[in-house]
Amino acid sequence: MRKMKGVVITGKNTLAISDQCPIPEEPCPTGAFIRPLIWSPCTSDAHLCATGCASLPYLIGKAVGHEMCGEITKVGAEVHDFKVGDRVIVCSVMPMWRSLEAQDGMAKQRQDNLYGGVDFPDRGGSFVEESYIRDADMNLAPIPQGITLEQAVMVPDMMCTAFEGVRQLGIEFGASVAVLGIGPVGLMAVRAAVLHGAGNVFAIGSRKPCFTVAKEYGATHTVDYHAPDYLEDIVEANGGLVDGVILCGGSGKELGKGLSILKKGGTLVNLSAYFSGAPIEIDPSVWGFGYGDKTIKGVGCRGGRLWMSRMAQLIVTGRVQPEKLITHRYHGMDKIPEAMGLFLNHDRNLIKPVIYNDSI
Ligand code: ZN
Repeated sequence: MRKMKGVVITGKNTLAISDQCPIPEEPCPTGAFIRPLIWSPCTSDAHLCATGCASLPYLIGKAVGHEMCGEITKVGAEVHDFKVGDRVIVCSVMPMWRSLEAQDGMAKQRQDNLYGGVDFPDRGGSFVEESYIRDADMNLAPIPQGITLEQAVMVPDMMCTAFEGVRQLGIEFGASVAVLGIGPVGLMAVRAAVLHGAGNVFAIGSRKPCFTVAKEYGATHTVDYHAPDYLEDIVEANGGLVDGVILCGGSGKELGKGLSILKKGGTLVNLSAYFSGAPIEIDPSVWGFGYGDKTIKGVGCRGGRLWMSRMAQLIVTGRVQPEKLITHRYHGMDKIPEAMGLFLNHDRNLIKPVIYNDSI
């Protein structure tokens, strides 16, 4: 096992550059090594850090991060479709395509931990000098001609998660959708709902930069959740309860708020991660006392080459402009803790940072 440089969580709100992140000497037969060209920290990385990995203590001391694009440096003997030097989008989850879960349509849910360390438990995340992935043919996607690195690095989680959430919402043309929480995934969900044929799309947040992008992405209404009666205002503007709700943030209390504006028979898709360990309580009345046919789905990022390639096609064809999310740009791995600090310090101008793996 070699050791390399990476960014690790050391405790509550603390990160460090470590030179002890392990990588195998060789990729597994279906695997590949990838040199990162660009990284993007995520709210869920920050959430893990802010809670000191309370729910996932085995991640302490391991490399953080899961959104990365890079260049292949080595491939295993059984990799057919990629070669050294290819520039690729790297899956942020690690689906197991040869598994019983895959036969059930849930390849993504066969993961032994957040960073998919099934065959290499110390693997950690992708904020490292050289990253490692298994099943390269299925879990990498080529970066198409004409899209930039910073557009491409919005694919593995921002697009792959938000579009999967809206797909699972299953809305009809003209249906109304409320997106509760418009950080980067919520904003991408706004765009996904618009492209999926929604009518009214309510973008609920509090920060001006996010409202600006929400409007550019096609939201029909921007709603400030600090307004005292914002939930009632949504129902009034919509002419009734909404058909679908996407939940992208908050502590768990927002689940009840989302259900309170959802029509009977509607679906709420949760895209938030709850790592704090605190229980989530719901007032039964907002859930139709349990028999209102209100479905709650906890949806995870969909990975895999096909889905990532489809997301990339949305960029190539100009239907999604993911670069609108990027508010901060850095250069060099040493800047990753600073970029993560934007989340930890609740910077009101932040939507999404990227870090180029160079030191310009
Ligand atoms: Zn992410």
